[in-house]
Amino acid sequence: MFANRTDYETMIDVNKIRSDFPILLRKVYGKPLVYFDNAATTQKPKCVVENIKEMYYTLNANIHRGVHFLSQQATDAHEAARVTTQNFIGAKSSNEIVFTRGTTESINLIASTYCRAFCKPGDEIIVSEMEHHSNIVPWQLQEEISGVKLRVIPINDKGELIIEEFEKLINPRTKLVSIAHISNALGTVNDIEEVIRIAHENNTPVLIDAAQSVQHIPLDVQKLDCDFLVFSAHKAYGPTGMGVLYGKEEWLNKLPPYHGGGEMIASVSFDKTTFNELPYKFEAGTPDYVGSTSMAAGLDYISKIGLENIAQYEHELLEYATEQLLKIDGLKIYGTSKNKASVVSFLVNDIHHYDMGMLLDKMGIAVRTGHHCVEPLMNRLQIDGTVRASFAFYNTKEEIDQLVAGIKRIVTMF
Ligand code: PMP
Repeated sequence: MFANRTDYETMIDVNKIRSDFPILLRKVYGKPLVYFDNAATTQKPKCVVENIKEMYYTLNANIHRGVHFLSQQATDAHEAARVTTQNFIGAKSSNEIVFTRGTTESINLIASTYCRAFCKPGDEIIVSEMEHHSNIVPWQLQEEISGVKLRVIPINDKGELIIEEFEKLINPRTKLVSIAHISNALGTVNDIEEVIRIAHENNTPVLIDAAQSVQHIPLDVQKLDCDFLVFSAHKAYGPTGMGVLYGKEEWLNKLPPYHGGGEMIASVSFDKTTFNELPYKFEAGTPDYVGSTSMAAGLDYISKIGLENIAQYEHELLEYATEQLLKIDGLKIYGTSKNKASVVSFLVNDIHHYDMGMLLDKMGIAVRTGHHCVEPLMNRLQIDGTVRASFAFYNTKEEIDQLVAGIKRIVTMF
């Protein structure tokens, strides 16, 4: 809200964009930083960091309950951030936007409250084989607590959901389908429109884990008709510790509260406590108004550049990287779906992913190695990890050339 916003027209001007991210000027071991760990977290533009600073310097006051000037201004800024988030994902009402600490907390909120309200022992929740641990473990906890059973949509060798298997799995005991839009490890863009269509034909609601998609492709929750959608601010150029749960109002109204405390109540007595209206019913405790407003600054930044432009530019990076990497003898890419986001997971010969990551790091190139919090997917692929390069709109083809040159050097060392 305070930042010096830059005007981006329709094209990606990567030099202009890079100047908004001071960290990209850093040197690592004396080499210019090449940051290819964007699926883990994105870097922050100046407008987001300035928003954090300005909130603390000029607007810090606890919100909602205060009558004083600062408290009211901070409340207005926090609620304006909710509207920005609503518009960013095309929600019908700002009541449908619940602020959380991130994707993980949003999924835990739904797993806990939904199973409490709607599931009995023997009911089933469907996820997929490519889910992040945060879309598996909350449901496994509910297997213990509510007696639900987790069913898993398998994937094919390209890393795509096998939709026919999903159609076989869904049945009258299925109570919810919870699925990633984009795989963090493979980059696969799942056909969530089809998943939602099939689930709704079977009267089953759908939760979309958009942790890897809101920052890459335009999303419209009303068009998608998903029932819940979750994401984290820190992967979308915003601050850490902030996230979103979108839920259709009719669903959120039917769910019981998650955490108890201040803010989420209408009135409290030892005889009877009543709960606040949406979305506050799910927001116990002092809200993170610095987080919400800084997240909104990040979302505004993305909107200014334009998600269509971002998607197109990042797709060019993906195609270029795939083409160049495949020229390296012995390099195998995991995740070869036709429809992919800008994530490339790979191994080269029998070089351990950790060794590759460490040696690339010494060249200033930041990639992620390991199981990427998708151990069941790694088991399916019969590997224990990959090297993952994930691109953002501030990355360049020249940086990809450096990655390729770096890998070639490492291969000669082994
Ligand atoms: N789902 C997916 C697909 C992810 O990529 C991640 C983060 N790697 C998460 C969920 C969890 O996000 P967070 O740690 O921000 O809660």
